[in-house]
Amino acid sequence: MPSIQRRKTVSVNVGGVLVGSDAPVVVQSMTNTDTADVESTVQQIAALARAGSEMVRITVNNDDAAKAVPYIVDAIHAKGWTTPIVGDFHYNGHILLRKYPECARALSKYRINPGNVSIGRKDDDNFRTMVECAVDNQKPVRIGVNWGSLDQALLTRMMDENSKLAAPLDARDVMMEAMVVSALDNAAAAERYGLRRDQIILSAKVSGVRDLVDVYTELARRCDYTLHLGLTEAGMGMKGIVASTAGLSPLLLAGIGDTIRVSLTPTPGGDRSEEVRCGQQILQSLGIRSFMPQVTSCPGCGRTTSTYFQKLAEDIQGYLVESMPEWKKIYPGVEELKLAVMGCIVNGPGESKHANIGISLPGTFEDPKAPVYIDGEFATTLKGDHIVEEFQVILDEYVQKRYGSGGAGRVASVAAPVEPPVFSVIQ
Ligand code: SF4
Repeated sequence: MPSIQRRKTVSVNVGGVLVGSDAPVVVQSMTNTDTADVESTVQQIAALARAGSEMVRITVNNDDAAKAVPYIVDAIHAKGWTTPIVGDFHYNGHILLRKYPECARALSKYRINPGNVSIGRKDDDNFRTMVECAVDNQKPVRIGVNWGSLDQALLTRMMDENSKLAAPLDARDVMMEAMVVSALDNAAAAERYGLRRDQIILSAKVSGVRDLVDVYTELARRCDYTLHLGLTEAGMGMKGIVASTAGLSPLLLAGIGDTIRVSLTPTPGGDRSEEVRCGQQILQSLGIRSFMPQVTSCPGCGRTTSTYFQKLAEDIQGYLVESMPEWKKIYPGVEELKLAVMGCIVNGPGESKHANIGISLPGTFEDPKAPVYIDGEFATTLKGDHIVEEFQVILDEYVQKRYGSGGAGRVASVAAPVEPPVFSVIQ
């Protein structure tokens, strides 16, 4: 697969995690707990980190939240996590960061929303105060513009100027330009107030897919700051996942984006880590980073005899999710593993041969047996009532031999062939 030419940027160190330039695209997320509730927040940060979030943002919206931050960071470190914790500030960040210096010190980065501090008005003291806190504490900031809270003074001024043009742009284009200008003007102001370029990350989030592509393409064209990508308020479930994927993919393929967040609305009581796995899957599907072994499975059709192959694909996927926390520690490179679970002989053997391990289940009118391929070659045939368990044994042995210490390269001898791969159709 041809590699993607990443856009050249400065590189930002966020609490030990490098973002930008040639560093891997970082997956991050945000808690939805009350930050003042230290225990719940720590639990959720740990869950997000366990899922693979490489940076976690928490709301810092009032005195109690600011007071809780150092305890949260300490508790996370005590659990053995080094995940940088980022503070999300709106309206009163200038007050909280000065009033609670332990909070300012404990955080690895500050997110500033220029739309709700004072930039754009004549005095930008609040923005300046936050930047100076970052300078004093040697912290990076993300200047995070969001169209839901875009600097209204700036937008009004640009709309007025546009209306006086002989050929005014439409309102949508002015809005997109205002997003870019807000990000760049605030970054320039932050540099004037003492931040280095390698302490600045920019984002310009919108909730429309094409708006997102346009605004980031323009932002990338006009600066070399490190960029945080994300579709804001992506929505719930399938809509949020598809919209985020549709918005992020063209940008990532164009080499734009140094860290991503997928902003999914969880179902009540739902798993917040879903957004982390979604971000990882986007990067892995694009061939940018690998996080999890991938299971290729066909959709099934009229040739599929039962739901058995769907169950096998689901069981194998579940088994991988369950095994990966341990596997990652002892089997380096296992995230590159490719499996295929196919429903019949039409594409089954072919797809299986492209995977590290592939199994093709019997379709309608086929002999009740499931050939297994390992590294492109026929290895064995499974049949009977224990195909899932036997396939898992083959998988475990393969992983151990290929990725365990001393194991490397192709594995041909996990299971000895017991019979040739004859595909016959019962008439
Ligand atoms: S591999 Fe077989 S069962 Fe799966 S979709 Fe194709 S024809 Fe249908």
